[in-house]
Amino acid sequence: MVYYCLWCEQKPKEWFSNWCSECREQKNLNNVYGFDRVLQIMKKCCIRSELQLEKKINNHKESIDSENNKNGDDQKDYIKPVLRSDKK
Ligand SMILES: [Zn+2]
Repeated sequence: MVYYCLWCEQKPKEWFSNWCSECREQKNLNNVYGFDRVLQIMKKCCIRSELQLEKKINNHKESIDSENNKNGDDQKDYIKPVLRSDKK
């Protein structure tokens, strides 16, 4: 019989624990940064209105389109590293 995590109720819980490893990791982050701060961050970053989501999606589309229109040379900013064998 598989016992599921009491938090997410989707993954099997760890041995001698009521939580799965991912939820345990989240709880550890909460312990480090504080539950209020993590909740504040999650509300600010994860919860968006439909309008905000549409703006974000459109911004991504525009940036992807402009990236694709750059003359096709995606490695023009690449600087070849100087190797020890090059230095003589
Ligand atoms: Zn879990």
